[in-house]
Amino acid sequence: MPDYLFEPKIPSVAIAGSRQRFAVRRIFCVGRNYAAHAREMGKDPTKEPPFFFMKPADAVVDNGAAVPYPPQTNNLHHEIELVVAIGKGGADIARDAVVDHIFGYAVGIDLTRRDLQLAARDLGRPWDFGKGFDQSAPVSAIIPAEGRALPESGRIWLTVNDEIRQDANLADLIFPVADIVMLVSQSMRLEPGDLIFTGTPEGVGPIVRGDRVAGGVDGFGEIAITVA
Ligand code: MN
Repeated sequence: MPDYLFEPKIPSVAIAGSRQRFAVRRIFCVGRNYAAHAREMGKDPTKEPPFFFMKPADAVVDNGAAVPYPPQTNNLHHEIELVVAIGKGGADIARDAVVDHIFGYAVGIDLTRRDLQLAARDLGRPWDFGKGFDQSAPVSAIIPAEGRALPESGRIWLTVNDEIRQDANLADLIFPVADIVMLVSQSMRLEPGDLIFTGTPEGVGPIVRGDRVAGGVDGFGEIAITVA
């Protein structure tokens, strides 16, 4: 048997200002957490509680990567998101205790095979193949929170080939970071290494081979990838 079958490989994300890396356990993602984005997806943002989906841990890709255009799609979309990195585990975390469980923040791109996701959505099928494909989760270096208060505002933006496509503010989050962490922890015990993509604002759209996709959240980092 080949050795690699017995050598655990742990997906990881860079940590700003450190040579150590953050070992990723799971990736939770929030669906439709900005009102204008919910509307652009044909949904009423006032009518639903938050819902979640997941990507495999090894979908993470470092800042600066050339991400291959994935198979089985003709409509690859960008979604810029604030990412929360959990540093301390817990179940049923109270809203005002959430800050104690956060290791840091990063900026992620929730790459989406929109055609597969919408077909699955409309048929009542799982989103996995639309959302959780290989290298579908580029994440910037995590900036340690070091006890600072939960983010409440800050510009969140994304450009494709230097043209602005998404431009909003964390203040527009329907369910802010405290609510999201609390709600996930009510369904599954959070553990160190969990990442939570907190949702994308309006302006999602297609990207194609050769595109340079860049984005950021003020105070929480920046990310850039190319589509190869
Ligand atoms: Mn998303």
